[in-house]
Amino acid sequence: MDKKRHVPFFNYAGVFAEFRQEYTRILHNILERGAFIQQSDLESFENNLAHYLGVKHAIGVANCTDALIIALRLIDLRPDDEVIVPSHTFVATASAVHMAGGTPVLTDCGPDHLMDPSSARAAVSSKTRAIIPVQLNGRTCRMDDLQAIARENNLIIIEDSAQALGSRYKGKPAGTFGLAGTYSFYPAKSLNCFGDGGALVTNDDSLAEKVRLMRDHGRNGEGEIMFWGLNSRLDNLQAAILNFKLARYPLDIQRRREVAALYQQKLGDLKELKLPPAPGSESDYFDIFQNYEIEASRRDELKMALHEDGVDTLIQWNGKPIHHNHELKFQVRLPRTDALFASCLMLPMNTMITNEDVDYICKRIRHFYGR
Ligand SMILES: *Cc1c(COP(=O)(O)O)cnc(C)c1O
Repeated sequence: MDKKRHVPFFNYAGVFAEFRQEYTRILHNILERGAFIQQSDLESFENNLAHYLGVKHAIGVANCTDALIIALRLIDLRPDDEVIVPSHTFVATASAVHMAGGTPVLTDCGPDHLMDPSSARAAVSSKTRAIIPVQLNGRTCRMDDLQAIARENNLIIIEDSAQALGSRYKGKPAGTFGLAGTYSFYPAKSLNCFGDGGALVTNDDSLAEKVRLMRDHGRNGEGEIMFWGLNSRLDNLQAAILNFKLARYPLDIQRRREVAALYQQKLGDLKELKLPPAPGSESDYFDIFQNYEIEASRRDELKMALHEDGVDTLIQWNGKPIHHNHELKFQVRLPRTDALFASCLMLPMNTMITNEDVDYICKRIRHFYGR
């Protein structure tokens, strides 16, 4: 038997350790300059991010939740307005709708774990204003179907791309299909900083201008208050770190896809598992594997066994899709999401794990199923 290893789900201390010297140099430089808020590093990061995604505007904000709230406030959501969101997402997608004054309406997921277009279509009512596809696990939804639903019903699309920077569907990047796309740079996200961070991207000049003002108390370049705003700025220090990381981000994506290919190679024959589509196996999709979310028979036993073997796994959202949170009082039946949450499990997926880690994890899984 293999020597026991410890494979944490995500090694937070490793975020700094990977490029300790470069980060130290960047931080030192920013601190010496006193360049804390809305400085040149932020502007440079915004330009680089816009260029990377091929959009006109990228605007740094404090986090992805704020980006969603700001986008929803700027479409003037009214209290009765409904916004369609998947139940298999972080609570932030739905809470942003609530905090912006609207009502989230939940949809079921499809076999790819993402918002199911037919469920989204069924959720449209006379009160629906917008739809928030969530580009989950580094994969982009079937956006042409969702865009058709939006077009037919005059709905605004805002993409929660917190997990999908660099992911593409039919060649187009996640976050660039609708009025606005939002991203998170939380430390465990694929492009990450040393704390909270986020961005909103759009091709709409007027929206971009309002977002820039809203994130900074509604102030324009002269400091005049143009409308009610809030403080949701992306720190210049975080922007400088993100700038460094964005330049080598394609290598990170490549590594994630390599890890996914290894999992596929070593687990693909197991009938007890359903794996995400292998990288490169579908021409419409370029997945960046923010997560590696499998479906597993005897999921809870497998999770326990792996834990005893030193491998930490995670069930997304503390094991609950949004409609399972009783305090939020949703009265919907979402049978496919219910079924998924009886079997879904995330294996470690990040740029810090080694091929040997993956090999060990797969051997322990095979052992669990008696292979
Ligand atoms: C992480 C995440 C968010 C929230 O991002 P923050 O930057 O932490 O606000 C929203 N939606 C999804 C799908 C996420 O994974």
